[in-house]
Amino acid sequence: MTREIVIASRNKGKIVEIRQILADLPVKLTSLHDYATAPDVVEDGATYAENARKKAVVIARALGRWTLADDSGLEVDALGGRPGMRSARYSGPKATDASNNEKLLRELASVPDEGRGARYRAVVVLVDERGDILVEAEGTCEGMIGREYRGTAGFGYDPLFLVPEFGRTMAELGLEIKNKISHRARALFRLREGLLGLEDAENPEKTSNDPR
Ligand code: IMP
Repeated sequence: MTREIVIASRNKGKIVEIRQILADLPVKLTSLHDYATAPDVVEDGATYAENARKKAVVIARALGRWTLADDSGLEVDALGGRPGMRSARYSGPKATDASNNEKLLRELASVPDEGRGARYRAVVVLVDERGDILVEAEGTCEGMIGREYRGTAGFGYDPLFLVPEFGRTMAELGLEIKNKISHRARALFRLREGLLGLEDAENPEKTSNDPR
């Protein structure tokens, strides 16, 4: 029977990315859009890892299913690492991607190009149905904050997040490239390795017969 993993998120952008990055795993990926009654989780941890663990554990125990959670944010050097863990609500409790991006442009208006370095960071956690942690991994993606919106793909800060190797924003690069280089992709590649390692440990005979 195919194992189900619930993505502990309602963020459509995140869910699309996670589904695509893990598409080749033999699992059925669902999300909180499939579980209307799943509880809301208060993200009050002190670190990305604490928030990701909390989201994963609360949802796993509520639904009795393996659960994958991501906690992520944008860290801007000129802002001392802000908005960081507050990235989703940077411009206030009713924040939208548009209001967050406007605030970012405003706060960086007088910062010269060489001071506009930033990175995305993501921590992903997979727990079993009891909430026991199976794998945890982190990924980062270095970039710069641009001065104007460019591109329409992705979500959040992507229209302002320039990736120097490509000279384009994440929103111009599109999902296919984003899902190879992003913080979330890097974290999930590591998580995938950890997950496959777990399965090998559970099925040592299969591993030793593996021709690779
Ligand atoms: P979380 O739900 O607390 O993890 O919120 C993460 C927030 O960080 C998002 O709402 C975005 O504002 C920002 N963020 C995280 N990852 C990305 C990304 O891949 N692109 C753009 N913004 C992101």
